[in-house]
Amino acid sequence: MLDRIAAMRPKKKIALVAHDNKKRELLEWAEYNKGRLAQHELYGTGTTGQVIEQNLRLPVHKFQSGPLGGDQQIGARITEGMLDCLVFFWDPLESQPHDPDVRALLRIAVVWNIPVACNRSSADFIISSPLMTEEYQPVLPNYIRERVLGIIEGEAA
Ligand code: PGA
Repeated sequence: MLDRIAAMRPKKKIALVAHDNKKRELLEWAEYNKGRLAQHELYGTGTTGQVIEQNLRLPVHKFQSGPLGGDQQIGARITEGMLDCLVFFWDPLESQPHDPDVRALLRIAVVWNIPVACNRSSADFIISSPLMTEEYQPVLPNYIRERVLGIIEGEAA
């Protein structure tokens, strides 16, 4: 719980997800930014994680494949404060069997105010931001801060 309201460390935990028609684009982006990505800890849905790991030769913590629950696992980790940043190349031209999970993941990233890139330009802006290698404290809505702090105080009592 404390992790959720703690500042992001200079070494970020980045989640990478791409739908099938967008995997090539994410891979090209990741290859171009390999040096920057290597400074952080990488996570990904099953197939995306495998593609990145094999081609970049960087370790990636892999969750389930997206349609099998990987998006939900990433959403849960964001809620727990275990992931700092989401690069999610979702396919705007094709519906997915797990569209409700896709929507839920995007929603939870907004709730917890983490940086999210859904296309290559946004991903370029995020990965090249000086904040990526500095400590950063996301501002959380008051109701979240109060709720998380309330739970921590309750556990300590
Ligand atoms: P995948 O999942 O990386 O296992 O293909 C991505 C997704 O469809 O959300």
